[in-house]
Amino acid sequence: MAFCDSDGAIYKHPAAIAAFRSGRRFVAVEQEELLPLPDGSTLYVLPERFPVEGRSFKPVSNFNGNKILAVAAFLSSGYLRTYLPAYVKNANAPLLSLWAYCGLVFAGDDFYVPAMRIDSDPRSDPALHRNDGELFKTIKAIRKEYPGNSLVKQLITCSTQYGCLCARNFFLSRYEAPVPTTRTCNALCLGCFSFQKDSGIHVSQYRLAKEPSPEEIAQVMLHHIERVDRAVVSFGQGCEGEPLMRAKDIAQAIKLVRKKTNRGTIHMNTNGSKPDALTMCIDAGLDSVRVSLNSPTEEYYTRYYRPKNYYFNDVLQSIALACKACIFVSLNLFFLPGFTDAESEVKNLFSFLDRFPVDMIQTRNLNIDPDYYLDTIGFVDEPALGIRNLLATVQGRYPDMRLGYYNPPKESF
Ligand code: SF4
Repeated sequence: MAFCDSDGAIYKHPAAIAAFRSGRRFVAVEQEELLPLPDGSTLYVLPERFPVEGRSFKPVSNFNGNKILAVAAFLSSGYLRTYLPAYVKNANAPLLSLWAYCGLVFAGDDFYVPAMRIDSDPRSDPALHRNDGELFKTIKAIRKEYPGNSLVKQLITCSTQYGCLCARNFFLSRYEAPVPTTRTCNALCLGCFSFQKDSGIHVSQYRLAKEPSPEEIAQVMLHHIERVDRAVVSFGQGCEGEPLMRAKDIAQAIKLVRKKTNRGTIHMNTNGSKPDALTMCIDAGLDSVRVSLNSPTEEYYTRYYRPKNYYFNDVLQSIALACKACIFVSLNLFFLPGFTDAESEVKNLFSFLDRFPVDMIQTRNLNIDPDYYLDTIGFVDEPALGIRNLLATVQGRYPDMRLGYYNPPKESF
């Protein structure tokens, strides 16, 4: 069992063994769930939360007379966690900030996590991003090339202040480039990174300061597409709201790009709330869309997204029309072990996928305090299949459906 002292130093407990958590249940650690902690992952102290011991499933609150705290891992991109950290909260425990907390244990003297590699695409490999010198050089050059472009300015902030790997990839001319465009949103997600109201949770990124014009958007898209093999340019990023709110301008930008080239994959990450707006973008030349969902169950969806002026059914309509238009359709499914793989959720997921046979499921670790999430959506505890079993069953039932983490380029559709 790993634990922290109050200064955040991590220790291996000499006697206690570790436990994990699935939903609200504590579970024993199975060796086949464990991977060495992936490069680029980070570790977190869980404030006012005590680690749970794996034989008794009881909290351990001190060691040698000193208070101890639970510890968790945040996995680098491309890895899906299969269990949560096991802890018991103090009455005064604050809400956890917006990270995806994964169990962490010692095996020998090394850190291990319950996780699986879900995508072999190297685009977020931390080793590729240890190149600040090169980044700053290209930022300088690109800033000079597009002196008045407010979107380039935003991407400089994203790559240097937020450490956004996608924005870094834009300046380094590789893989997928982000194209944030929109300040507003018609949802109020519990786990929104860029807007929080009355939750006490701090956002991880601010929404872009200025909405770029269709011409500025097209300039950035073309810059990337013309330089990169198998380029992907994506609307709908962490530093913005919902791109469908600006569908008219986005459609115009797509048309400007498509007038000049057929190269590159034009993609949108969206909440799928506005079917007509999505149609407008598809008609303009959108190649692929990824619709985010925390759950295929309407009540859990609505309690998480807190939609304004739209309904779950609009999201279903968007997915249906995108499938019908034969563009590449992904679900961005937010995984929380014990909830996503709970029996009733799995049943609903299969009915959903039978109805909407999307091309891909991107398995995303849900970044949120697990208790806050389960309490707010009103999930009552139930048996779970296990994340590995769920994914194996999905693969068996839908052999043509891709599982992964990143938006693929159209050359691989
Ligand atoms: S849909 Fe996206 S931008 Fe809108 S509230 Fe949810 S996470 Fe935030």
